Amino acid sequence: MRAPLTIAPSPDTADPRRLSAIASVGDQTVRLATTANVPLAQDSTPWVPPAALVGMRTGRDAVVYGDVSEHAVDGCSGAMSLLRSWYPERMVDVDITAPMSVPSTDTGGRGVGAFFSGGVDSYYTTLKHLDEITHLIFIHGFDIDLWNEDLAERTLVAMRKSAADLGRPLIEVRTDVRVWLDGNGVDWGPEGFGPLLAHVGLALSNVVAKIYIPASNTSADQKPNGSHPDLDPRWSSDAVSFVHDGLEATRAAKVKLFVDSDAAMRHLRVCWWNGKNDYNCGACEKCVRTMLNLYIAGGLERCTTLPDRIPVQAIDNLYLNKSAKTFVAENLAELKAAEVEDPELEAALQRALDRSEFRNQLNAARTIPTGLRNIATPQFFRFWFSRIRPPANEHLKGSR
Ligand SMILES: [Zn+2]
Repeated sequence: MRAPLTIAPSPDTADPRRLSAIASVGDQTVRLATTANVPLAQDSTPWVPPAALVGMRTGRDAVVYGDVSEHAVDGCSGAMSLLRSWYPERMVDVDITAPMSVPSTDTGGRGVGAFFSGGVDSYYTTLKHLDEITHLIFIHGFDIDLWNEDLAERTLVAMRKSAADLGRPLIEVRTDVRVWLDGNGVDWGPEGFGPLLAHVGLALSNVVAKIYIPASNTSADQKPNGSHPDLDPRWSSDAVSFVHDGLEATRAAKVKLFVDSDAAMRHLRVCWWNGKNDYNCGACEKCVRTMLNLYIAGGLERCTTLPDRIPVQAIDNLYLNKSAKTFVAENLAELKAAEVEDPELEAALQRALDRSEFRNQLNAARTIPTGLRNIATPQFFRFWFSRIRPPANEHLKGSR
């Protein structure tokens, strides 16, 4: 077994809205930071989920210094067992220890949060539980890269307006923990994004006692994933519990729930392609998939963040992975069931389902030049240049 990785608190600032730590993996030592517009917990519990993932991927036991919730360490062991059973080829069986592990007491009087990226799953969970939810939580450094300040700022402006429309305060978080996970081989979709949500949620224990994590898939379409109904609750601590929400609804059903919400129709954000750094590109698989949901639910023309006509011809050029094909089949069934007469669209969706894998891969290859253009920006190079410095002469200040 290699030397353990360590994470130690780094109280390098008097700002209570900043949580910082020194993380050491082999000869790589970095300072990690998560900031927000609310006071963050200053114990080390939020570092447990990312430490567990990096430990399992790099084959190192993980030691988390500083006060850590005993409940979180116990839950983390269960989360690690589950991840090991899902990914035996990728995840090594390691131990996580927290020398200062302490039982914490619930301070009470806190609210209920929901992670809120502005997408279909976010709006569904938020509107379904709006009576109970007191705070919405947006994270820069999650699906929008840290270097992309321009898109993050425009998205934040929209999310602030949307939260105001919904009558709930927006907690704005910025974190570089994803960069550390990515840099240590953690695969974002299948492994990393749930533990990052857990890190942020645990850091918000001063403000919320329970957090909804909007589900990406239905109960009928479950597979090992970074966020999963069996995984998310295991990251809970004494102070914060996580609830994976929305398993009962398809994307079509989710859109139907919020199609009459002005907040959603003015600010819906679904694109992960962001061609030309657009809020929604209106042409990628996810944009088109959502436009189909809105069209069938009768809301496409009222949604101001997506084109109001479906680019039917463009469907032939979309790359569809396995889950995207599931969504095409779902939309085709919904279209046939709804009272929408659109034979041209129906035929295009059927062609997409019948497409050969060779043709599908050709479509994937066509997206490469645009993908490279999307990231090759001055901001991108500036961000990464600022991170490529000689190793800082960091010591484990604050470790015990
Ligand atoms: Zn798009």
